Amino acid sequence: MSNIDKQALRNRYSEKPAPKCHICGSVMTIQRAGAGGVVYGCTGRIDKDGEGYKFADGRDFADDHYARSRVTVADESDPDVLALLDELEDKNREISVWRKRCENAEKGSDLLQRRNAELSSAVIAPGVMRCAGCGFVLTKNNISMSAGTITAGDSKTEPCPNGCGPLWPVTWKELAVQFREDSEQWLEELQSARKQIK
Ligand SMILES: [Zn+2]
Ligand SMILES: [Zn+2]
Repeated sequence: MSNIDKQALRNRYSEKPAPKCHICGSVMTIQRAGAGGVVYGCTGRIDKDGEGYKFADGRDFADDHYARSRVTVADESDPDVLALLDELEDKNREISVWRKRCENAEKGSDLLQRRNAELSSAVIAPGVMRCAGCGFVLTKNNISMSAGTITAGDSKTEPCPNGCGPLWPVTWKELAVQFREDSEQWLEELQSARKQIK
């Protein structure tokens, strides 16, 4: 339901202000209320207690002025309808608050996913693939003769040449551990080579 419809309903079911007398301009009082509507009339009475039957100058009980002033106003006013409209508006407000929260949560989750992808790509050593079976390490480089540069190749998986299965990307940490183990091995080899020379 659009806002315009709701406003129209609100107007229709709200209590209407008492009309003014078309002869003298004073606010009229309810004479009769029923299914057909509310009958308003300009009685000309000025008594406050409703029992005194005092009339303004030139006015009298059931005079011509009164008869001519009477109007019937359609009355559909219904506080239940207004209460329902209030409730509906509250619910709509609630829904838009939740919708906003969901949108924000989605944005946050997109951001996290992107950050996560960035982090995991930063963790992978580019162009280095390792076989989990035999420990074979493949280092892929892109060598550009024209530019005179060597850059790391991609980290796309490919089969181990020893037939163990696929090679997997290696993290910088794994690479560092591998280098340490390799250098320890080289040191041992160097020392045993020196002994043979002596
Ligand atoms: Zn009047
Ligand atoms: Zn292998």
